[in-house]
Amino acid sequence: MPKVLLTGGSGFIAAHIVDILLQHGFDTVVTVRSDEKGQKILESHPNLPKEKLSYVIVKDVAEDGAFDEAVKSNPPFDYVLHTASPFHFNVQDPVKDFLDPAIKGTTGILKAIKAYAPTVKRVVVTSSFASIVNSDQHPPVYSEEHWNPVTWEQALDHSKVYRASKTFAEKAAWDFVEKEKPNFDIATINPPLVFGPIVNYLNSLDAINTSNKRFRDFVQGNLKDETPSTDTFLWVDVRDVALAHVKAIEVAEAGGKRFFVTNGFFSNNDIADAIRESHPKLESKLPPKNAPSNPPSYAYGYDNTRSREVLGISYLPLKKTVADTVESLLAVGA
Ligand code: NDP
Repeated sequence: MPKVLLTGGSGFIAAHIVDILLQHGFDTVVTVRSDEKGQKILESHPNLPKEKLSYVIVKDVAEDGAFDEAVKSNPPFDYVLHTASPFHFNVQDPVKDFLDPAIKGTTGILKAIKAYAPTVKRVVVTSSFASIVNSDQHPPVYSEEHWNPVTWEQALDHSKVYRASKTFAEKAAWDFVEKEKPNFDIATINPPLVFGPIVNYLNSLDAINTSNKRFRDFVQGNLKDETPSTDTFLWVDVRDVALAHVKAIEVAEAGGKRFFVTNGFFSNNDIADAIRESHPKLESKLPPKNAPSNPPSYAYGYDNTRSREVLGISYLPLKKTVADTVESLLAVGA
């Protein structure tokens, strides 16, 4: 069976990638920062033989040589999926907290594969719409041809550093392949806000991943008095993002391409209304119907043709995503 190394195994998106890798028959090794996190992943997939699912520890992707041991395996790896990168808004030190792990993590794994894992044929890097968007001057229609023009100086601004970290990391990956001409090719998956069912080994609702926080807040009644403005208007379901990663290794023509994976626009009011419809019992926790909430003014369009045509993604609708996400939160006591 083809064998895959998946970095950042404890993450929200990675948890769904593991499910799809296993469904598609891949042998999977995830990297995690501790035994505790690795054990939780194994416990959530009971009765699997070790060759189907196991973990290795990579404590900090920003360290020199962090992946040198992890990429060595017997039998050796065929593919690598690199999702590990910080995604939160708690910025203390922009370089240490974001830019280093994003950029050095990406170049570090590519260097390690080139040096120690010659059987790897393709590496899929989880990038982001953050690497595409130009918030100062939106193009009429966003697609894979667009790049965030952020500079290093702007990256040090705490409000811009996450998007910059994703942009510089993705650029570094493409530069690596161009300059180093390794035996593998790469593909990147570029999602906007990713929503969907939370991982079943979430430690606490405080530890919910960044992009699902608004669902927890709706369900707990924290947004009852005011629907927050919708700052990023594009979204995608996590199961579609996970499938895109796996398709990007299965489909030969995916090599050398970026994939902008999105199901289009949403607003926070759309989410509240969808919760109202799927979970009427939560009505008292929700803001009133038609509550004022900066309605999004869609200043740009999006083109997801490549993801549909090359990877075969047919996107899940917002109502299903909302219903399933709320259900997953209620199941852990939200
Ligand atoms: P999570 O926070 O759930 O996952 C991030 C993962 O990266 C975790 O496994 C985390 O480990 C790991 N990680 C972070 N920093 C380090 C480090 N220094 N060393 C080792 N591991 C590290 O977020 P998501 O699943 O949402 O994000 C996964 C990827 O998807 C990221 O690259 C993110 O930028 C990208 N993305 C996410 C979007 C979204 O809306 N969710 C949108 C677009 C892109 P630990 O849990 O131990 O800290």
